[in-house]
Amino acid sequence: FDSGTRTISYLKARSFVPVKSLSLCEKKRILVTGGAGFVGSHLVDRLMLMGHEVTVIDNFFTGRKNNLDHWIGHPNFELIRHDVVDPYMIEVDQIYHLACPASPPHYQYNPIKTIKTSVMGTINMLGLAKRVKARFLLTSTSEVYGDPEEHPQPETYWGNVNPIGPRACYDEGKRVAETLTYGYMQQDNVDVRVARIFNTFGPRMNENDGRVVSNFIMQALKGENLTIYGDGQQTRSFQYIHDLIDGLILLMNNDYREPVNLGNPDEYTIFEFAEFIKNEVNPKCKYTTLPATTDDPKQRKPDISRASEFLGWSPRWSLKQGINETVQYFRQQMAAGVI
Ligand code: NAD
Ligand code: UDP
Repeated sequence: FDSGTRTISYLKARSFVPVKSLSLCEKKRILVTGGAGFVGSHLVDRLMLMGHEVTVIDNFFTGRKNNLDHWIGHPNFELIRHDVVDPYMIEVDQIYHLACPASPPHYQYNPIKTIKTSVMGTINMLGLAKRVKARFLLTSTSEVYGDPEEHPQPETYWGNVNPIGPRACYDEGKRVAETLTYGYMQQDNVDVRVARIFNTFGPRMNENDGRVVSNFIMQALKGENLTIYGDGQQTRSFQYIHDLIDGLILLMNNDYREPVNLGNPDEYTIFEFAEFIKNEVNPKCKYTTLPATTDDPKQRKPDISRASEFLGWSPRWSLKQGINETVQYFRQQMAAGVI
């Protein structure tokens, strides 16, 4: 072993999906917090394909390195293990601030940590945006509307949130994150954007994160009963991941600064959604009814007039197209023994 006598080189160069070549003034340095998660990894894919320089910081609580495996080693990409509760310094032009667990079982696992992530994490990222003069986008949520008394929900609706219930760590955490975002805008002139995201699904969802889409698909694929919480008459509107990514990038690069709903207004009761998954995936499935979860919102449907007027955005993927791609992804993962 002649260490020191030769330079170690890669025996086999890695190959990557080709990315766009941008001039120096077009190429942006972009930070994505929570970039190893479901939404974050799709956002990173799109920003990389567009030719930007992307840095991800993630503590891997719910995210996975293998969601980003295909970019590791690319000269435009960097993945850093870091918890946003602690400050982080980097020179960037844009910050997409996603870091936060998003499914009820995950954000309720350690509620205090969830609040710290929303509050301290958002302060740290806004402080960074202020210092380096980066544009900052917060991924907020339809949960800021709580159990809504206005239907569908426009951005002007102030919400109906239980401040001490089991969902409060997430809902109130995001509400404070929005307050902080507009505080930094007014007080320190930080250039901010806020997306209020409604239920989103797609490949790379965590198969056991407890959300209804992944639960129903996995149960149907395994031939298990679909678990319906409560009477199944509560409603949700499901958006496919690629539509959300279009909306986030449009919002970041638009001048509009008020909160913007991003969601698919196609509304289903959970029972209708279970029937849909049963028909698409496994017609032999049966249902099991379980108790409703505490403070479960009874209805949810975005009013997307703002996104349509100011961003020229509306969803392009139907539920059927999105579910078919997602089912295919979970089938492949099962066949590969990954899940
Ligand atoms: P996810 O759990 O898949 O991703 C969250 C990512 O943040 C993970 O990679 C996780 O490891 C990371 N993270 C969590 N806490 C962190 C911390 N303290 N420091 C650093 N990294 C941390 O969830 P997702 O569905 O991809 O959601 C992404 C964002 O979008 C979240 O802010 C969520 O609130 C928001 N959102 C998502 C939905 C949805 O339907 N998926 C709906 C509304 C809002
Ligand atoms: N839900 C269900 N069965 C499941 C998982 C969820 O009936 O296996 C219900 C849940 O009670 C809620 C809806 O589906 O009414 C959406 O739940 P999810 O956790 O996906 O998202 P959120 O409640 O945050 O909208």
